[in-house]
Amino acid sequence: MTPTRIQQVDVIPIRAPRKEAVRSGLNIADPVTASEFGIIRIRTANGAEGLGEISITFPRIGFSLCHAAQRMLAPAITGMDSLAIPAALAEIDRVLGGELSAPYLRAAFEMALLDLTGKHFGLPVWALLGGRMRQRAPLAWGIYQKSPEEMAADAVAGLAAGFHAIKLKVGRKLEDDLAAVTAVANAVPVPLRLDANMAWPNVPEAARAMRALAAVARVEWFEQPLAKRNLEGLRALRHQTGLPVMADESCHTLRDAYDLARAEAADVWNVYVAEAGGLRAAAEIFALGAAVGVPCILGSQAEMGIATAACAHLAVALPQLPYAIETFGPLRYQRDIVATPGMIEGGWLTPPEGPGLGVTLDWDAVNEMKEQL
Ligand SMILES: [Mg+2]
Repeated sequence: MTPTRIQQVDVIPIRAPRKEAVRSGLNIADPVTASEFGIIRIRTANGAEGLGEISITFPRIGFSLCHAAQRMLAPAITGMDSLAIPAALAEIDRVLGGELSAPYLRAAFEMALLDLTGKHFGLPVWALLGGRMRQRAPLAWGIYQKSPEEMAADAVAGLAAGFHAIKLKVGRKLEDDLAAVTAVANAVPVPLRLDANMAWPNVPEAARAMRALAAVARVEWFEQPLAKRNLEGLRALRHQTGLPVMADESCHTLRDAYDLARAEAADVWNVYVAEAGGLRAAAEIFALGAAVGVPCILGSQAEMGIATAACAHLAVALPQLPYAIETFGPLRYQRDIVATPGMIEGGWLTPPEGPGLGVTLDWDAVNEMKEQL
């Protein structure tokens, strides 16, 4: 029997309590207080184990994805060679065939298979991704919608902790956004990333809000001012306001990035491993961005430690990483599912040492957070 053959796939749904409820332009009436994620554990015939993470905050379908992983994907890849990652992913793509949530599952399984491959060859995942470009990656700090005073204090604390940029969730009534952004701009000396999460309904309202906000703060960029499919609107906003626009919800897969590039809809792309369909798929979007002159950052579903470690390996391997990235997810939780000392420190993200992803499950934490499917 091939020693690297996939013998067993376990899916462990977890409910991870947040330190702070998620309040953004996506969910003003329905703050998220716990993430419903999943752990993928692939074991091979020779006793090796690879870890992956299903991470999705919006829409809140994490447990549905766990169910699909267990019922559809585990049987499909059991018996395949864990080192033949493209073949396993092709099988996953075939089983999920065009399903909306396929990238999240594909990403989780690719992560576990890369972890196994790294352990097999004694290499960290960054080496499998082409080698190390930098020792660590700078992180931005993100702030949910709260009172202006709370947001300003959060921003001051973020910079004091070493974070390299500050991102605020906007998209409330304009007077509330103006009060919050003014308070933060007066409190910290850095340009602000303002994320509307698609909250503005049309080009005129978005343009009005963007101009008003740019008048009270230095703005690094306006993230996703309009609905995700409204690429013409994003392009019109860029031209009408002259202000920089970032695509986030509009930029999931490589195909989305191609459409954004064709429409000249954004100045920056926010790329997520979970939404792209894996580490290598995310790297392909960065490569397309480089080819068409659009810089990218790595964004976050508030991943926990497994997927954040994966993001860290990618972040040090990407040829271009011009801005601070937003993959500090473990800091959002009361407790993480893996122990990763030093992975996030002083505003920097560093991949854990050791072969593969370099993470080991904290079973006490997993048992505390695990749910039944
Ligand atoms: Mg965003």
